[in-house]
Amino acid sequence: MNSTPRSRVLHAAWFDWRSSAARDFIALFGGVVLASILAHVYELGPRLFQLGQGYADSAPDDIVFIIFVAFFLSLALTIFSVRRYRELVCETKARTIAEGEARDLARHDPLTGLPNRRLFDEKLDACLALASDTHQVAVLMLGLDGFKRIKDTHGHAGGDKALCEFANRVAGILRKDGVLARIGDDEFGIVLPDISSLDVPTNLARRIVASAADTFAVETGAAELGVAIGIAIAPINGVNLRELVRRADRALYRAQGDGRPCVRFFEPEMDMHVERRIQIERELRSAITADIIEPHYQPLVSLKGNCIIGFEALARWENRTLGRVPPDVFIPIAEETGLINALGDQLFRRACFDAKAWPEAFMLAFNISPIQLRDPALGQRILSILGQTGLSPSRLEIEITESAFVEKTGVAKAVIDELRQAGVRIALDDFGTGYATLSQLLSFRLDKIKIDRSFVSHLDDSTDSRVIVRAILGLAKGFGLTTTAEGVEDAGQLAYLLANGCTEGQGYLFSDAVPAVGIPALLDREFDRTAVAEDGPRSLHA
Ligand code: C2E
Ligand code: CA
Ligand code: CA
Repeated sequence: MNSTPRSRVLHAAWFDWRSSAARDFIALFGGVVLASILAHVYELGPRLFQLGQGYADSAPDDIVFIIFVAFFLSLALTIFSVRRYRELVCETKARTIAEGEARDLARHDPLTGLPNRRLFDEKLDACLALASDTHQVAVLMLGLDGFKRIKDTHGHAGGDKALCEFANRVAGILRKDGVLARIGDDEFGIVLPDISSLDVPTNLARRIVASAADTFAVETGAAELGVAIGIAIAPINGVNLRELVRRADRALYRAQGDGRPCVRFFEPEMDMHVERRIQIERELRSAITADIIEPHYQPLVSLKGNCIIGFEALARWENRTLGRVPPDVFIPIAEETGLINALGDQLFRRACFDAKAWPEAFMLAFNISPIQLRDPALGQRILSILGQTGLSPSRLEIEITESAFVEKTGVAKAVIDELRQAGVRIALDDFGTGYATLSQLLSFRLDKIKIDRSFVSHLDDSTDSRVIVRAILGLAKGFGLTTTAEGVEDAGQLAYLLANGCTEGQGYLFSDAVPAVGIPALLDREFDRTAVAEDGPRSLHA
């Protein structure tokens, strides 16, 4: 997969050319010198002059000498011509090889040696010419997640090494007639001609995702790469090369939006989806520049004490053309586009300022996305914002999700340890929805588990949910962790949670998220409520 043989041929061609030119020059120069010496020794000039006067005057030894010189010259010329001819043949051959190699280089990626976009298009074009209902062609677009991060952390050499290793792994599982190409910085394409069913590209895509799950060894440590895959099929999604590739790209775009290693086939509504996403991304950039996305605060309630103990900051964005865009929509876009660090810092700074105005007893819970946790400098940034705003680390609780635990490079763990040491508490958000194993969870020291809303919302009607919630509460108690039930909406759910030892709750039963200016009123109302309430917790809105 490297270009050494190619460069050797080019070098040899150059060397041949140089050495044959040198030989020609030496031969000609030598010939001229020799002829001059002979002419001088045999007084050839005057003799030839005499010869020009007429043969009659010439002596016989002069004629023999002239015949000898003529023979010698024609022999030398013949040898020279044959040699030159052979050299020319060699030169032409070397040039043809060099031209072929140069053409080849123009159609291959120099780093991986794989076909590049140009050759990919040629091969796909050839396959599409034969595509029919019985000869379907699959186009897979592979987008790497984390390539830029590897380059930032391990340098360009680290990025290149991981990329080549990824290409090797994919090449190793690709069937013989499949074409793998590198078509962008961190994008690969695959053509599978004549697939027997959609299972073929699906299975290949799954194997590729699994093969990328192992870490990539680079000089400076271990690196992680994720891969998302978009698939389009000819002739179902068209037989026009540009259109098919565009559709596979759209499917990839959507797969990347799903936030974890994912495979997607093209669907017609993706076209519309992509337009909207592009618009949101554009607006999001200006919103971050203008600092108009603000945190609202949802109370966290102690179930036993029946009182507010803090607030979770939840990002809110109101856009003039798009209306209210929910965080579930713009946070993933911010993650993909790398805007999440700027947005996260901005929101955190505002939340710290707001929290400073609350009574000391109230803590601030802040969401940190797994993408932010890939940045080794995050811990320092959070601590420095705390320092600048004067909020004590002991009043901060950061909420992280299970995907941070699955990460193998150790950056997330280092950041979390750093924050913990400074006195920040760590809560595991959306518990029960991720893929982390218990041992992965235990390797991180947590303070709290937040039980995902999907379990809490079905406490009334699903035995499974009740069993799961009770098991989570038991597990948390065993490890000495506090628990927050998310999405508590009715008294029945609250009663079950209280009966099974859940320590905290959050949800519309207590209050929705309110803007910073709404907090004093909320606290006043709570003060009135707790002063008069005798019959257990009620909605803070009540
Ligand atoms: P999350 O961290 O799980 O936040 C809780 C979500 O549940 C919030 O949605 C909240 O409004 C909603 N919720 C609270 N109580 C109830 C209830 O009783 N019923 C129902 N159905 N929903 C309830 P929201 O504000 O739309 O946020 C969605 C997600 O977006 C959050 O989920 C969090 O993952 C992410 N997010 C929000 N703000 C930020 C932020 O500043 N940074 C990061 N990284 N992520 C954020
Ligand atoms: Ca949360
Ligand atoms: Ca949550």
